Amino acid sequence: MPELPEVETVRRGLQPVMEGKTIARADVMRPDLRWPLPDRMAERLTGRRITAMRRRSKYILLDLDSAESLIIHLGMSGRMQIDSEPSADFHHNPTIALKHDHVIFHMENGTRIAFNDARRFGAMDLAPTDQLENHWLIEKLGPEPFGNTFNEDYLVEKLRHKNSPIKSALLDQRLVAGLGNIYVCEVLFRTGISPKRKASAISKARVASLVPAIRDVLSEAIESGGSSLRDHRQTNGELGYFQHNFSVYDREGETCRTEGCGTKIARIVQSGRSSFYCPTCQR
Ligand SMILES: [Zn+2]
Repeated sequence: MPELPEVETVRRGLQPVMEGKTIARADVMRPDLRWPLPDRMAERLTGRRITAMRRRSKYILLDLDSAESLIIHLGMSGRMQIDSEPSADFHHNPTIALKHDHVIFHMENGTRIAFNDARRFGAMDLAPTDQLENHWLIEKLGPEPFGNTFNEDYLVEKLRHKNSPIKSALLDQRLVAGLGNIYVCEVLFRTGISPKRKASAISKARVASLVPAIRDVLSEAIESGGSSLRDHRQTNGELGYFQHNFSVYDREGETCRTEGCGTKIARIVQSGRSSFYCPTCQR
């Protein structure tokens, strides 16, 4: 499941081929993904210029010159495949699509961008740009982790009365948007907080330390996504996933990376999700 850094990496990868460019034609190959696609979707995209490409949580937002925005969610397995020089097949038979290419953007300059999603947990919708914050997928989202409203005071206040474990509290998208299982595990390791600790029982200073830790962990992952993007572009133009070196995530039974610790990384299940942590370093 792509998390915020992966989505941001995809957005940055698409930006040079989509932002400021016009969609000459869109092919919508099926009526639905996870949910029904918007009415007359192909028609509403065709001929529209993309004025800006933004991200809100795990959604990529394409603002169009029609005052509508296209909302894209990659779901579990969604990928964006860029073909800067589409093969002859694509030119001679423009409706040709690979299996699981559900929406295809043909840009004015000939670049072909396909949304490919084998499991179809992805989603797309069109909504008026000035109403995006009220869209049902977006309206309940909390502040962006890099935004000004997400700060130490905000987090201390929000967690003061939360009796759930800190792990579950941080996964709540209403508290902070875009943080998923992998990066919450990493953030808790970095701040030395046990995933089991009750949110309200953590000192103010330790709660405050979560804010820069969240930003650092996400920025480092975005940076590492950026470098994988450069490698990727030279190979197959596929955007969506990258390898990242995690401290605790998916390292059950392996040695903790804190110098001199030597403890094995443990895994527990909380609200149906695996939490990886060092029982010595995290209290
Ligand atoms: Zn340790």
